[in-house]
Amino acid sequence: MKFFSTRNPSDRFDFNEAVLMGIATDGGLFVPEEFPKINIDDLKDLSYDELAFEILSKFLTDVDKEKLKEIISKAYDNKFPKNPAPLVKAGEDFYLELYHGQTHAFKDFALSILPLFMENAANSKKIKNKILILTATSGDTGSAALYGFRDLKNIDIAVLYPEDGVSQIQKLQMTTVNSPNTLVMGINGNFDDAQSAVKKIFTDKSVKEELREKNYSLSSANSINIGRLLPQIVYYFHAYNQLAKSEISFGKKISFVVPTGNFGDILAGYYAKKMGLPIEKLVIASNENKVLTDFFESKTYNANRKLKVTNSPSMDIIISSNLERLLYHETKDSEKVKILMDSLLSDKVYSLEHDFKDFCAGYADEKKTLDTIKNVYIKDNYLIDPHTAVAKKVADDYKKSRKTEEKIIILSTASPFKFADVIINEFDDITRQGDIFKDLKSFENYTSIKVPKDIFNLKDREIFHKKTTEVKDIQKNIIEFVCDRNEN
Ligand SMILES: *Cc1c(COP(=O)(O)O)cnc(C)c1O
Repeated sequence: MKFFSTRNPSDRFDFNEAVLMGIATDGGLFVPEEFPKINIDDLKDLSYDELAFEILSKFLTDVDKEKLKEIISKAYDNKFPKNPAPLVKAGEDFYLELYHGQTHAFKDFALSILPLFMENAANSKKIKNKILILTATSGDTGSAALYGFRDLKNIDIAVLYPEDGVSQIQKLQMTTVNSPNTLVMGINGNFDDAQSAVKKIFTDKSVKEELREKNYSLSSANSINIGRLLPQIVYYFHAYNQLAKSEISFGKKISFVVPTGNFGDILAGYYAKKMGLPIEKLVIASNENKVLTDFFESKTYNANRKLKVTNSPSMDIIISSNLERLLYHETKDSEKVKILMDSLLSDKVYSLEHDFKDFCAGYADEKKTLDTIKNVYIKDNYLIDPHTAVAKKVADDYKKSRKTEEKIIILSTASPFKFADVIINEFDDITRQGDIFKDLKSFENYTSIKVPKDIFNLKDREIFHKKTTEVKDIQKNIIEFVCDRNEN
């Protein structure tokens, strides 16, 4: 299996090369040259680890099979419960709970394994340089990446988050990571500013040169890295297997509703479908930053809009990077993709006449999202976070509009407690005390739902990262960090 850039199919790379590069030198994203076909009957009774092996080994053909097994079992060890991604029925809905990892969001699935892929790739390729992971985060990537990469020997990580665009719990999860190979900075700007700054550094030859002089090469842990995308395919199959145990006959088509920002999670669902998972529709659920909903409706991707800070911050995105991969897979025209992406960069807009038949799209505004959290709790006695609530609202709309009657799975992407500040406000009987941890305690008493211990423990952890930066100084700060690392 080889991978190539969405903007140039002639240069081919194996997985180890692609995972280390993160993004192609032409600015494109790596895609697999084909989708390996899988017979779902063979996967029926597999454990999560076994399933991960079956799927990943089809793509990581340059990774030794025993080594891959070792990597998988190390990634999904007791950091996760025995069933890492349980399918839960609440009311009439099925939720795939993807938030039982260390930082309580679905990103733990990919970021528990990506660092191991990278270490292995660096060893296989006999890379002498150190690697600097540079990552922009709207909240959840940052903590999941820091937990995944902390304390590694030859890989350092720098995380940029929008100072006013993440929840208090998310911020604490990042700023309390105590490991010398980590740099965490709040930026005065939004997520797109952070992401653009990172992209710029990745394509800027002089920065790369400067880093090379310091013996560093650059890579990414954002979902533009193919090593993040592939592990997410696994839980779509795992979800299907669980649903097929009791609710559908094996082989019947189902749909997934996915809270979407950078288009990574839902794209993994598309890969699953291409590999043979019986999926009717992949339903994109956006918040008020509904650039994708508009694109799928109007065929025009229009990034000329102001980003709104919402209660589902991990979806506050206007440039949805992974869409580029879908554009390539659907058009198979890298010239075209390049033209569209250039147009997005220069004019913030492009149009494409195309029928994306595997997808539907919808969105939920802030009020509907909050109402949904409350209604699901009252009606189904089940607590969901704001991202999942966006998906639940869109799932309800989808159910009303569709003609078929297939079963639907909603991807539940974060623990509600990660966004406790938002959720507790919806409970009129709880008096806020101006302290998130006291509020959590009241909440726990009121609902009898246990708050994860490590979220409570954040209260007593020391804050190690206090630095904030202007967008224009990001590059300077990163170079300084690298210099400091070299001196120690
Ligand atoms: C990152 C994230 C999303 C969006 O996922 P994408 O892969 O960026 O589309 C949705 N919900 C939560 C909780 C997230 O952390």
